Amino acid sequence: MAESMTHLATSTLKGALEFFKYIISRTGLLAVPIQSTSLFVRSSSLDAESNFVPNASKYNAKTPQNFVPDIELMPLAFWAVDDLEEYKADFSKIGIFTFFATILQPKSRGTVRLASSSPHDRPRVDFNFFSHPSDPTIARAAVRLSLKLGAAIKASGFPIMGGVVVPDGEGDEEVDRFVKRRSRSALHYACTCRMAGEFDKDAPGVVDDELRVYGVKGVRVADASVFPKIISTHLQAAVVMVAEKCTEVIMESWED
Ligand SMILES: Cc1cc2nc3c(=O)[nH]c(=O)nc-3n(C[C@H](O)[C@H](O)[C@H](O)COP(=O)(O)OP(=O)(O)OC[C@H]3O[C@@H](n4cnc5c(N)ncnc54)[C@H](O)[C@@H]3O)c2cc1C
Repeated sequence: MAESMTHLATSTLKGALEFFKYIISRTGLLAVPIQSTSLFVRSSSLDAESNFVPNASKYNAKTPQNFVPDIELMPLAFWAVDDLEEYKADFSKIGIFTFFATILQPKSRGTVRLASSSPHDRPRVDFNFFSHPSDPTIARAAVRLSLKLGAAIKASGFPIMGGVVVPDGEGDEEVDRFVKRRSRSALHYACTCRMAGEFDKDAPGVVDDELRVYGVKGVRVADASVFPKIISTHLQAAVVMVAEKCTEVIMESWED
């Protein structure tokens, strides 16, 4: 008991010290970004052994989407899985290195629907993850590339244990099982209120190109939900651009 109290007091003191160090000099532990680098990869540029194949996807102006990265691997110095009980039991006392492997261009489509006519009720959200057959294929490529990089890091001498949270085997079935058990959202929710034609063939638009909601007067939407399609990176900068665009169109409308 006395030992844990001493430990708590030391941790609190260390935390406070780091806090003031950051406030005063912008240095110390809190100045270290959670994620300082990321790897963006096009899955079609990888062969079955996750080797990079130069020029595997040649740029074609008619299908530029075939050139956009569809995998992001985030090397993180913390636990990237949602299972906190598992974390507490097995990993809370050791240093962690994780590849948070994400699908950047998921083709599965979810829904956001009203749960009732009351504005106080939370909407019904169905993520519908992995409902499109191409998403598990990209996820497999992302997991295999992470494993390959992890093995390369270990082979080059970094003192990591390696293979702590990995699939049971290398086959599709084992990797798919791993993806199903370990997948989580990267919290980049977008496109639920997309800017597109009202009767767009891919999915009906909700707002026009000045962010006005079709059929409702005096309402504009300015957030990640209006993206016509999901971008192949983190969303914040693009959200700011939407907000700036919204300011512009509102000010222009005042001039009319
Ligand atoms: C943990 C986390 C980490 C992230 N890290 C990054 C990152 O490092 N880089 C990056 O580019 N992106 C990152 N993102 C993604 C990015 O932050 C979001 O995509 C972006 O903030 C979305 O902007 P938004 O305006 O659509 O929604 P939000 O930023 O969520 O804004 C919605 C706002 O609406 C308010 N609101 C909600 N309901 C109501 C209501 N009924 N009435 C009034 N107000 C309401 C909320 O309080 C909130 O202020 C991260 C997201 C999360 C969750």
